[in-house]
Amino acid sequence: MYDQSQISFIMQKKSEKIIELKRSKDDLLRKLYLSSIAFAIPFLWIVRYHQRYFPSFEDSGKLFPHITYPDVIALIASIATAVLMYYYTRQHGKVKVKYDALRHDIMDNIGTVICICHDQCNCREEYIKHLVDNGIDLVIR
Ligand SMILES: [Zn+2]
Repeated sequence: MYDQSQISFIMQKKSEKIIELKRSKDDLLRKLYLSSIAFAIPFLWIVRYHQRYFPSFEDSGKLFPHITYPDVIALIASIATAVLMYYYTRQHGKVKVKYDALRHDIMDNIGTVICICHDQCNCREEYIKHLVDNGIDLVIR
């Protein structure tokens, strides 16, 4: 059983922080995935009806004589979701950099004394298990 009270303060804080970063990273990836789906729908509409988006220079009345109201909605929706995808990609990238830096830091420190026990103990094993159970990979850099 993972007993956090036996783990050194700094390693406790690091494990709390990396679990928080992992959740944030996964959440952003989920939002990125959902915004990609939300982008695909209006984008496919635009591809399907692309000919209606072309301007006409023959007709003096209207520049876009064939465009319909749903076409305009699809265009706005695709731009809005593309902006969201860009935003989530950047945020995910930033969190991933922090997450990997902390993960490597923990990997570098895992070999040192990480607990306050004076007897033989299995704190290190439990600490690693605790992080692995939270989806944090401490094996592959
Ligand atoms: Zn210990």
